[in-house]
Amino acid sequence: MDEDDEDDDLEVPAEVHTVCQYCGGGGMVADPKLAMIGGSPRNVDNGRPCPHCETVGHFPGIIPPV
Ligand SMILES: [Zn+2]
Repeated sequence: MDEDDEDDDLEVPAEVHTVCQYCGGGGMVADPKLAMIGGSPRNVDNGRPCPHCETVGHFPGIIPPV
């Protein structure tokens, strides 16, 4: 029987890219800030577009982490 590729081989993605170190590939970064809501201070975290990858979440090719 063929039990060839089902093992824990290295999974090589079809397209090589580097996940953005800044947002972890999500394209958004956490941006908690204090806001007054209904008269009481709260932490609001809407997130914001990642300035590093511009919400793409990854870069083409391989970029070593700095
Ligand atoms: Zn990013």
